[in-house]
Amino acid sequence: MTTAFISHPDTLLHIMDGNHPESPARITAIKNALIQRGLYQKLAIYEAPIATDVQLTRVHSPDYIKKIRASSPKAGLVRLDADTAMGPMSLSAALHASGAAILATDLVLQGKVNNAFCCVRPPGHHAGRANSAGFCIFNHVATGVAHAMAIYGVKRIAIIDFDVHHGDGTENIFKDDARVMLCSTFQHPFYPHRGADTRSDTMINVPLAANSGREAYQTAFEEEFLPAINRFKPEVIYVSAGFDAHADDPLASMNLTDHDYVWITTFIKNIANQHAKGRIVSLLEGGYHLPALAQAASAHIHQLLL
Ligand SMILES: [Zn+2]
Repeated sequence: MTTAFISHPDTLLHIMDGNHPESPARITAIKNALIQRGLYQKLAIYEAPIATDVQLTRVHSPDYIKKIRASSPKAGLVRLDADTAMGPMSLSAALHASGAAILATDLVLQGKVNNAFCCVRPPGHHAGRANSAGFCIFNHVATGVAHAMAIYGVKRIAIIDFDVHHGDGTENIFKDDARVMLCSTFQHPFYPHRGADTRSDTMINVPLAANSGREAYQTAFEEEFLPAINRFKPEVIYVSAGFDAHADDPLASMNLTDHDYVWITTFIKNIANQHAKGRIVSLLEGGYHLPALAQAASAHIHQLLL
């Protein structure tokens, strides 16, 4: 039993423009760090399938999926919103990224691996039921969660989103579904300017001021997430693993270090062991400083492997 590492070559072919921080180099940096740390050969490596329309329609409207398919350009770039664009390979990259969440769910819920990390892009947690946003086209974590509920009959799932940006797309999809709890820390006020005033029994939104570091995150996890999760007793834990709250990240202003991502991952493993038979499906979201992303993500994956 090990950790699955799920990716696909097409995740390297989605390019929004030559200098965009959400770049294919992010995937390569993580993989290289895993190889350098001697971790890659300990992982069970899988190639992601594509997500089917049946799987995507559990979380996105059919019209939205149709619109994305129709928008896919033969050449050049098509702008979907202020921050998100599609090139000729973007549709395939996004379909394989959601497909990674499907495969990760199958592997973890069938007991073939202890846990899984989906090393995919574009990210997903800003994509809502019928909208792209913030570099995201399809919401991969939501697609995995919906698959777990539809195919495996899972009744309670917690998503822990430690990306520096609020997981507003995930909230949009699950806010009225009592089976899904979202625990999200995020810099506030900040993009996407949502989440600070929408807390409920299953939407555990914890806005944090700019320049927050270890202490604020540990307080959020221990005093906000932990009691909610202990009440909810999730059967499996999903993670929107964004590494853009790292001190070196150029897009945000938080102060986490590699060590803090070890602490966060250990926290998640502990609650997964307590409530969910250790079952964790983690997916890459943000993280834009390549060396920091490589170190923080490989530290996260190392903890998943232990
Ligand atoms: Zn982010």
